[in-house]
Amino acid sequence: MKVDLHSHSYYSDGKHSPAFLLQRALQNGLTHLAVTDHDCLKACDELAALSTDLTIINGVEISCNWEELEIHVLGLCIDTSNAALTDLLAKQQQHRRDRMKAMDAKLNGLGTTGLWDYLNALPCVAFTRSHVADFLVQRGRSANRQKAFKAYLSKRGRIYIAPQWCGMLEAIAAIRAAGGIACIAHPCRYSISKRKLERLVAEFKAAGGEALEVSYGNIQPEHQLYLQRLASAQQLWTSVGSDFHDSEATWTDLGRFPALDEAAKKSAIWLHPGWHF
Ligand code: AMP
Ligand code: MN
Ligand code: MN
Ligand code: MN
Repeated sequence: MKVDLHSHSYYSDGKHSPAFLLQRALQNGLTHLAVTDHDCLKACDELAALSTDLTIINGVEISCNWEELEIHVLGLCIDTSNAALTDLLAKQQQHRRDRMKAMDAKLNGLGTTGLWDYLNALPCVAFTRSHVADFLVQRGRSANRQKAFKAYLSKRGRIYIAPQWCGMLEAIAAIRAAGGIACIAHPCRYSISKRKLERLVAEFKAAGGEALEVSYGNIQPEHQLYLQRLASAQQLWTSVGSDFHDSEATWTDLGRFPALDEAAKKSAIWLHPGWHF
């Protein structure tokens, strides 16, 4: 069994089609794949119509507000036709469109037009700041994506618009309504103290959250050890995934992340009684 439970297609900010991800997962020897696009289920529905030897797990990555932070919650083994979930994601997608229009207006003020048209020519249904970064690079406003984020799209960036995502508790409730397992994505990427992360995890668990992503692309070994211990202390299931976006990013690939250690394997999310596909 070789799994990857966190990846993105071009329906959010990944570079590739769901069919490309499926082929690459097979090439990389995976047995189970979840495409977890930001706030959208289109890849899951498309993959369900393809026949393959690979086991496809329905997944999504929901952007949430928690206190002053933006937290990403993965929903795995979800029923993609559940109305509570699809209603919430429709609102998130609308918010993403509104946010892009507001960024387009700010960019017009700086003398660069065309963002909205650029976005609408993409296959994407859940627009992100990554798309804006690509546009800024294409228009020669930034030398690369990192610089585009720093100068334009980060909190202090020139066209930044603060997002209004759903609350973390709302996301957990929708995932559970859809029969899924809620999992905190990449917990060590939020730039917060351990104390605050532990408070976040406790609140997540109290609200029905069940898993922690303890291994992902580029994770530092000490962070993985810490997260495995935290999952064990909080009695949460452990999940893993590359957060793959693009085959040209050499530091990441489907299936590429450190293995769970023996203790964490005993609480692997695929042993959850509600694990189904
Ligand atoms: P959004 O959902 O619109 O806030 O966009 C977030 C996406 O942008 C994330 O899922 C990442 O893929 C990407 N991202 C966030 N911060 C950076 C950064 N500093 N450099 C490059 N990509 C980033
Ligand atoms: Mn992304
Ligand atoms: Mn994320
Ligand atoms: Mn992701």
